[in-house]
Amino acid sequence: MTEPEGVIKYRLDHHWSDPPEPALIHSLNAWRGLLRTLGLIGQDPARYGGIGFGNLSRRLEGSCGARAPAFLISGTRTGHLARLEPKHYVWVRECDTKHNRILAEGPIHPSSEALTHGAIYAAAPELIYVFHAHCPTIWRHARALGVALSATDVPYGTPAMATEVRRLLAAAEVRRSGALAMGGHEDGVISFGSSAAAAGCVMLSLLARALELTDRR
Ligand SMILES: [Zn+2]
Repeated sequence: MTEPEGVIKYRLDHHWSDPPEPALIHSLNAWRGLLRTLGLIGQDPARYGGIGFGNLSRRLEGSCGARAPAFLISGTRTGHLARLEPKHYVWVRECDTKHNRILAEGPIHPSSEALTHGAIYAAAPELIYVFHAHCPTIWRHARALGVALSATDVPYGTPAMATEVRRLLAAAEVRRSGALAMGGHEDGVISFGSSAAAAGCVMLSLLARALELTDRR
């Protein structure tokens, strides 16, 4: 295991406030539930030192063109929860990857991977949903599946990872592929899309293709 998930490495400026509207979390919860049943999000004593893993976000409507897009993201250390409620989500109002700073507003601190989600939204205005999961099968076959990989010496949740993400997403085919794998973050995979279904289906399709490769061995 490289390093435990869930350690916030950015400077957080947090304003406590009420939870987001319940209507905003239904699509995230639906896909989170599905990814949990497949073991791509969750908590397992046998994996990653028992630390919860995986997080999801959606861009704030109307912040497509913004220099620092705002987004709603699952809170830190919520991977172990079977179902999230509005109180487990938080707004990232500003994500300054250059200065490793996040301005957040809500009832919980943002996921430790919020900087990476923010870098994806800043790099690709067309993307509305970002799902981060841990899947050994996809991760092991990332190259064979043609999934873009971040450098192995780049740790999660850092400005360096934000730079890597920007580098990878500069390629139109990576943006179109809807996914990337994190070389320096064990089993770490990110899918993204212009809808929750687009981001979710990319992850499921990658899993099926990876299982096919495994089956051929
Ligand atoms: Zn992770």
